Amino acid sequence: MTDTIFINGSWSPAVDGGTRDITCPGSGEHVATVSEGSAADSERAIAAARASFDSGAWAKVPASERGEFLLKVASRLMERQEEFARAEALDTGKRMYEARLDIEAIADSFTYFGKAAGLDAGRVVDAGDANIVSRVVFEPVGVVSMITPWNYPLLQAAWKIAPALAAGCSFILKPAELTPSTSVLMMDVLDELGLPAGVANLVTGAGSVVGPVLSAHRDVDMVSFTGGLATGKVIAAAAAGTVKKVALELGGKNPNVVFADADFDAAVDNALNGAFVHSGQVCSAGARLVVEESIAESFVDELVRRAKLIRQGGPFDENAETGALISAEHLEKVDAYVHRGIAEGARLRCGGRAATNADGENLEAGHYYMPTVLDKVTGSMSVAQDEAFGPTITVETFSTEAQAVAIGNDTDYGLAGAVWTQDAGKAQRVAGALRHGTVWINDFHPYLPQAEWGGFGQSGIGRELGPMGLGEYQEAKHIYQNLDPQVTGWFDSRA
Ligand code: NAD
Repeated sequence: MTDTIFINGSWSPAVDGGTRDITCPGSGEHVATVSEGSAADSERAIAAARASFDSGAWAKVPASERGEFLLKVASRLMERQEEFARAEALDTGKRMYEARLDIEAIADSFTYFGKAAGLDAGRVVDAGDANIVSRVVFEPVGVVSMITPWNYPLLQAAWKIAPALAAGCSFILKPAELTPSTSVLMMDVLDELGLPAGVANLVTGAGSVVGPVLSAHRDVDMVSFTGGLATGKVIAAAAAGTVKKVALELGGKNPNVVFADADFDAAVDNALNGAFVHSGQVCSAGARLVVEESIAESFVDELVRRAKLIRQGGPFDENAETGALISAEHLEKVDAYVHRGIAEGARLRCGGRAATNADGENLEAGHYYMPTVLDKVTGSMSVAQDEAFGPTITVETFSTEAQAVAIGNDTDYGLAGAVWTQDAGKAQRVAGALRHGTVWINDFHPYLPQAEWGGFGQSGIGRELGPMGLGEYQEAKHIYQNLDPQVTGWFDSRA
């Protein structure tokens, strides 16, 4: 795998010949060498996407046929599941078990958008006049730049590719530089199944080099980005110059609110899942535990006891329950976040350091960080406000429902949150009051392709998945026809 730039239906090296070595974060082993694109490669890809869109080769294909194509993609992904899962596991360090689930979820999103394509053909509008025919139709936005992160590399890309293709768009995908392999395989599938050349394009390379052109170019109609808040702001500013449509899926500081009447075991178990799945490198991670004062001590004691037992290991370690952080640099950031919290007065209950070989076999070969719990946290501390994106839980307490909601909403973000209680009325009240794009009641993490995903506040703009996830890639056009045109007489200038 060297020529990983896919433009107009052909693979090529980077214009300037650059390459990048990809290593597995869990073991340090060399995984692949890929092309390291430059701004010139972005330009080439945009030109191909523009030409394909303007030709109508995909945009004018009936929506139901585009949908059938997506259903074929879903089947092919499942036929090649092991190959995809292996590539995803090696690039990210996640376990094969999780990578296989990711590929299933990716296929599900292609299935959802495959079925959704063409279902909504627009609507006839009653203009209140028998001589007026008025209808609203949905057309593809055009050329879309897609810029994606490393935590769920192909899943995040699929949530953009599937609806964009359903809508009839052409696109350029730029995956995170550390995790390009499944995006390369994805282009192979789209090509193999006969997508017209130029509709799907891929540029591998560094965000700061390849990304600015993709965000600012006049021939790009929309930028769809998933990643960190700081990068999202840079991209939105770059896109503003040509008033592109912008979709942003950014970070989160997601409260997991546990009331004293919750099912204790289920709530502890899901607090662990919420925060430590994929070692916390999840935008919706429940890293901010907000627990009712009366059960806080026993709840946190049990959480800490179980957090200490979590087994870490590489993608193919059958015993492992979670994997490594993406890079040494990211591990340092997580560690700095934890130690900032301790310096501000939080109490370290477990973790707070990189794993060693004493914690598990060969962990020093990868970027493993010990599951960490900080209690005695208050809302003004940086650990309560900043996204850690690592295996951390901060603990705050409350004694009234209003306090629980206030803490849950005390964030610039607004991606996701959960509430644990056996009181159905309280659950609904709190879910209604939390200003987050997804709220789970007595659960953590599940999402449905049929249901919108996205953030309030600084967690983003727009939605992925669900009907709105398709709508992001469409423009609404109102077509108004007068069957009986008349002189209006508005201007009296004919004489
Ligand atoms: P990041 O912002 O560092 O990078 C994301 C992508 O942006 C990468 O492809 C990167 O190369 C590119 N990029 C970097 N600088 C750029 C620039 N100047 N112009 C254009 N592109 C540029 O994010 P990350 O570290 O890869 O991912 C982690 C973040 O993603 C977390 O904040 C997480 O919460 C967020 N995330 C959000 C969701 C969601 O659904 N809301 C899902 C997954 C991840």
